[in-house]
Amino acid sequence: MKADANVQRRLLDLAEVDAELSRVNHRRRTLPELAEITAAEQTVQAKRDALVAVETTLGDLDRESRRQETEIEQVRAREDRDRKLMADGNVGAKQLSDLEHELATLQRRQGVLEDDLLELMERREAVEGDTNHARVELEKAQAALSDAQGRRDSALADLDSTEAKRVADRELMVKQFPADLLGLYERVRAQRGIGAGLLRGRRCGACRIEIDRTTMSTIKSAAADDVVTCDECGAILVRTAESGL
Ligand SMILES: [Zn+2]
Repeated sequence: MKADANVQRRLLDLAEVDAELSRVNHRRRTLPELAEITAAEQTVQAKRDALVAVETTLGDLDRESRRQETEIEQVRAREDRDRKLMADGNVGAKQLSDLEHELATLQRRQGVLEDDLLELMERREAVEGDTNHARVELEKAQAALSDAQGRRDSALADLDSTEAKRVADRELMVKQFPADLLGLYERVRAQRGIGAGLLRGRRCGACRIEIDRTTMSTIKSAAADDVVTCDECGAILVRTAESGL
């Protein structure tokens, strides 16, 4: 294949644009924010679980308190009934003694229940504090997650804009190459990632492998408009003044 040496040299500009496009793609997949987001999502999940756990405990304590309050009300109602019966004075001595006995038992029971309720309320207060703390922790984790997501989105937007510019550059650039040369470049690039490299010293600019002496002497004897490729990676070897031929 033949191509004007100046045209061949412009393949290096195209290769540079393609390298930048590859870097953009690589960067998009390896943004540090991606790992940060995964970790932040796990933290949010853990904090959410912790909040659900304390909220469940709080709900249990509330139910228990209500049960206790209902029982206290029932005991009080029974006491009121007993007192009313005693006050009415229509009871015999035996029944009066039974009522007094029952009233004393009920009052003891009420005392125990009220102590339990107080204890429950103290525990509830502590658990409520834990719940508020867990809620704050969850909010912090969610804020960290959305901060990381924001940074990822802005990094992706930058990459998208760089890519769009380079793709536009590329569209203009490729028009200057003859179809066969561009076809070769694109085939090699599709297969090996890099379509052309500068020959510098004895090294291929695409794969960085040193070219053996026999091949070097073939390259040296090639005409300027001959298209030379690397035996190792297939890239078009572009020769310039820097090549040291
Ligand atoms: Zn090579």
